[in-house]
Amino acid sequence: MSSDPAARAGALLEIDLGAIVSNWRLLAERAAPAQCAAVVKANAYGLGAAPVTRALAAAGCRLFFVATLDEGIALRAALGPEPEIAVFNGPLPGTAAEFAAHRLIPVLNEPGQITAWTGQKASPAILHVDTGMSRLGLSTREFTGFADELPKTGIVWRAIISHLACADTPDHALNEQQRARFAAATHRMPGVPASLAASSGIFLGPAYHFDFARPGAALYGVNPQPGRPNPMRQVVRLSGKILQVREIDRGESVGYGAAHVMQKPGRVATVAVGYADGWLRSLSHRGCGYIGGKRIPLLGRVSMDLVTFDVSAIDAAQARPGASIELLGEHYGVDDAAADAGTIGYEILTALGSRFHRIYRDPTATPLPE
Ligand SMILES: *Cc1c(COP(=O)(O)O)cnc(C)c1O
Repeated sequence: MSSDPAARAGALLEIDLGAIVSNWRLLAERAAPAQCAAVVKANAYGLGAAPVTRALAAAGCRLFFVATLDEGIALRAALGPEPEIAVFNGPLPGTAAEFAAHRLIPVLNEPGQITAWTGQKASPAILHVDTGMSRLGLSTREFTGFADELPKTGIVWRAIISHLACADTPDHALNEQQRARFAAATHRMPGVPASLAASSGIFLGPAYHFDFARPGAALYGVNPQPGRPNPMRQVVRLSGKILQVREIDRGESVGYGAAHVMQKPGRVATVAVGYADGWLRSLSHRGCGYIGGKRIPLLGRVSMDLVTFDVSAIDAAQARPGASIELLGEHYGVDDAAADAGTIGYEILTALGSRFHRIYRDPTATPLPE
């Protein structure tokens, strides 16, 4: 490359590994005396599985969860032999031997996966029982039918897990039902470590902690208790660069569909980020950015590679080509963007695009200025 990649990129994505580590420590304290694993599926919710896992392993995390076999193989190659890596989706037919070859612990979700793993019985596996999600995991009927057989399969049971459907809604009646069903299942697997809580489940209290928790989203700054103050540190800062600033007269339209019409004359900045970068089209007319701590409204529709902001109230010296607009950060967090886009922070993070220039802040570095 002929110039600095940070100079060429339309946007910079800064990922604060120190904030991820401090979020993990906070969750681990909340879950104690239970242990705390970390979920790094979908490339650590879009933020980079290898750097995130290395930082968390250095902080003392020993068990990591990915979603797929290929995510597990890539992470094993990046990390070396040390930490345990478990794969939520379990083995698809014909892949059991590869799990063993890469020292990946499959989560066995249905009877066929258990049968397939019986041939690899020297290698540990995790049993998933469904307690109210109806997604993955043995149904109560299947588990009841199988429970007496499970010790005889010869499989080394590393853990038994289940997943809460409504943990972000503490008053939901299903939480206690799932907890009780899971507790009953654990009694049939004595001595096997049990895990029910993801990020939000940790905040439901000690009855939900069992032997280890497995948070994902909260590590990356998503609020595990929607509607209450967020105890997690923000992890990402996204700065988009201004390509052009123009003066616009009253009555002129901005962007596709002429969907925004200027009510008064103003200045519009065009930024090099669009829905192809995960700046969701549903942020059209609703999102915002910040320059020097001042809120600037997003104008019109988000395009594939571009988005426009009203910078009429910003000094021309600050809003000029090459200057940055903060799209995610302390002023406008992942959950704020999610609320404006009509989605959840998880989707904002996992959508963050591959065209951004990524900068990792080392856990030992001084935190980003607030
Ligand atoms: C994704 C996932 C988690 C982590 O959930 P968060 O809400 O991101 O903390 C834990 N367990 C299972 C089974 C999952 O699929």
